[in-house]
Amino acid sequence: MNASAAGSSGPIVVAGAGYAGLHVALRLAAKLRSQPAVELTLVDRHDYHQVITELPRVAGGTRAADAVRIPLQDMLAGRVRFVQAEITGFDLAGRRLLTGAGPIGWSRLVLALGSRPSDFAIPGLADRALSVYSASDAERVWAAVSAALMAAAAAADPGRQRRLATVVVGGGGATGVELAGELAEILPAMASDRGLAPGRPAVQLVEAGPAILAGSSAQLTGKAARILSDLGVQVRTNAVVAAATEDGFRLTDGQLVEGGVFVWAGGVKAPELVADSGLPTGHNGRVKVDRYLRVLDHPEIYVAGDLASVTDPRTGHVLPPLAQVALEEGETVARNLDAELEGKPLEAFTFHDKGFVVSVGTRRGVADIVGITTGGRLAHLLKDAIEWEYRQSVRHLRGWDPAAW
Ligand SMILES: Cc1cc2nc3c(=O)[nH]c(=O)nc-3n(C[C@H](O)[C@H](O)[C@H](O)COP(=O)(O)OP(=O)(O)OC[C@H]3O[C@@H](n4cnc5c(N)ncnc54)[C@H](O)[C@@H]3O)c2cc1C
Repeated sequence: MNASAAGSSGPIVVAGAGYAGLHVALRLAAKLRSQPAVELTLVDRHDYHQVITELPRVAGGTRAADAVRIPLQDMLAGRVRFVQAEITGFDLAGRRLLTGAGPIGWSRLVLALGSRPSDFAIPGLADRALSVYSASDAERVWAAVSAALMAAAAAADPGRQRRLATVVVGGGGATGVELAGELAEILPAMASDRGLAPGRPAVQLVEAGPAILAGSSAQLTGKAARILSDLGVQVRTNAVVAAATEDGFRLTDGQLVEGGVFVWAGGVKAPELVADSGLPTGHNGRVKVDRYLRVLDHPEIYVAGDLASVTDPRTGHVLPPLAQVALEEGETVARNLDAELEGKPLEAFTFHDKGFVVSVGTRRGVADIVGITTGGRLAHLLKDAIEWEYRQSVRHLRGWDPAAW
């Protein structure tokens, strides 16, 4: 515990209404009901919150994009002022957030701007591959796959047809595995609908490392690989993409992975505007924070979610960019802002790992929970349950009683 800088009752601004930022705003709104003088503002470029963990289902056409866009006005208690605007920069000295709707002054700022897909400066990648980091991105993937299958159905040349009907996913982490599984399950029916043989479409998953789902147990990886193989996904490991060309992903060994649609899920980095902000940044441009989640040398700014570079003292590693990490960090930031207002000690952040669940296709998945690894239908049900529980928790937070906090 550390004594807080007590008595700051000026405006609090939360930048970003994703997993971390929305939860800071909702938790703080409830707490601030008894502090009407404190202004709480939430800023996001969209007027909706995106349930990003469900995007692979949108890309696979099994969920509508609007189903993963939750209107913010449905969620925000009247206590939060919402500003829909693009955040364009920071005036750290003047304590102002620079936005398309004009500057917004803060006494305390929470940065929760998430991350962006990283192309690792691979030539051609940004132009030629799609990504899946927003509902609109996921819709584009679905539309591109649909169009490629139509074009394949119309192609007379079997080689061209095979190429057009192949989807190549770069990056064998959780996002790439979920996307590849979802598409492999759904493509045969899509092909039939378009007059193409159901066996014609193919999904290739290209991973630079020696195994998919890096960092997971060999048991979990093995189970995921078996389900993917059962779904017909061709997994290439130790396959490093050197360039994205007109014809496909060119690997460092010279091989060309051809396809009709290319999706990149190879990793994330901090948004560009943070790199130019003057804030201290570390690996992948994430902002360095102290154990209370305040920016080093800027105790008036908190960071939560993918943007925060938080080292887990138990492992010595920086925590991964995950929704469950973002939610826990958001909770700590809300508590610490409240502690500052109350003149109470701050709370150091501790991550409580609830486990790892990945869906592989529309019916199966893999999970590592409290040291138990499972694969199959149960893991998929678990993923469904986590997503359902998340939506319930958002609803619950709207009418939430802070006395129980
Ligand atoms: C396809 C996919 C599947 C995933 N599945 C899982 C999963 O199953 N489990 C899991 O734990 N994690 C999963 N993740 C990771 C998880 O989605 C992220 O860790 C999480 O979204 C991070 O939350 P955040 O609040 O930091 O950022 P986000 O949720 O991305 O929110 C950032 C917010 O900031 C806003 N914003 C950004 N820049 C600006 C700007 N300049 N101006 C205005 N607004 C801006 C955005 O609009 C957004 O609302 C997945 C990620 C992807 C891409």
